[in-house]
Amino acid sequence: MALACPCGSESTYADCCRPLLRGEREATTASALMRSRYTAYVRRDEDYLLRTWHPSTRPAALDLVGVHWRGLVVNAATDGGASDGTGTVTFTALWEQQDGALESMKERSRFVREDGRWLYLDGDAD
Ligand SMILES: [Zn+2]
Repeated sequence: MALACPCGSESTYADCCRPLLRGEREATTASALMRSRYTAYVRRDEDYLLRTWHPSTRPAALDLVGVHWRGLVVNAATDGGASDGTGTVTFTALWEQQDGALESMKERSRFVREDGRWLYLDGDAD
């Protein structure tokens, strides 16, 4: 059975976020980039997270150990389409604590498109 994509889309991982994480294609929308970055957090793919982060706000490294992500809901998206230069995506991500309790965070992320590539700029807790 094909592996469901961690980002919670209806697609399989092979058809959804994997080609983005592998650099085989670029995200066409800010929402698609946001989903692929969530998947990269799930898979602890630091390289992908850093290369999809805008250089002006990109950290030197990430600490991805110890967080057990359990789900993603995209709540809203503004602009971020194939012909836009900026976009925002509001999402809720779930993670599991050591004791098994589920926690959630909501963030409004800002994205910019440069040279045809969507990049994560920054985000505010919503
Ligand atoms: Zn996906």
